[in-house]
Amino acid sequence: MPIYEYVCPECKNRFELMRPRSEANLAALCPQCKSNSQRVISVFSHYSASAPDSPLKKMDERKGKMWQSQRKMEDDKIKNPDPLKKWREERQKTLGVGPEKWTEWAKEEKAKEQKKKDYGEGWLGREA
Ligand SMILES: [Zn+2]
Repeated sequence: MPIYEYVCPECKNRFELMRPRSEANLAALCPQCKSNSQRVISVFSHYSASAPDSPLKKMDERKGKMWQSQRKMEDDKIKNPDPLKKWREERQKTLGVGPEKWTEWAKEEKAKEQKKKDYGEGWLGREA
C-alpha cells in the first residue's frame, strides 16, 4: 500500500498514512488533535504517472521501507524490551547454568589472564 502525507489544519502536524490508493484523497484524522487533515500533494505522490523505474518512485519506495523498518523496530521494542534477555535465557537453557556461574567464569578467566601476565605465555593452566 502506498504512503500518503497529510497535514493538519489545526495543529499543523504533518503525518504519514498507509492506505489504499482509492482512499488517498479522503480526509485523515490527525493523530494529535483528531482534526480532519488534507493530503499533502508532494512530488512523491506523482510517481504513478512516471516510468516504473523513475528516481521518484525509487525514493518513495525507500521512504516506505524506512518507515516500515522503523515501525518494525518499534514493534520489536514493545514485544521484546530487552533483546539480550532472550539471548541470556537461551544460553542459560543451553548451558544449564545461571548468571551466578557466568560471574564465576568471568572471575576465573580474569585470574587466568592475570597469571598469564605474571608467568608469561608459558603458563597454561599450571597452578602457581
Ligand atoms: Zn492536528
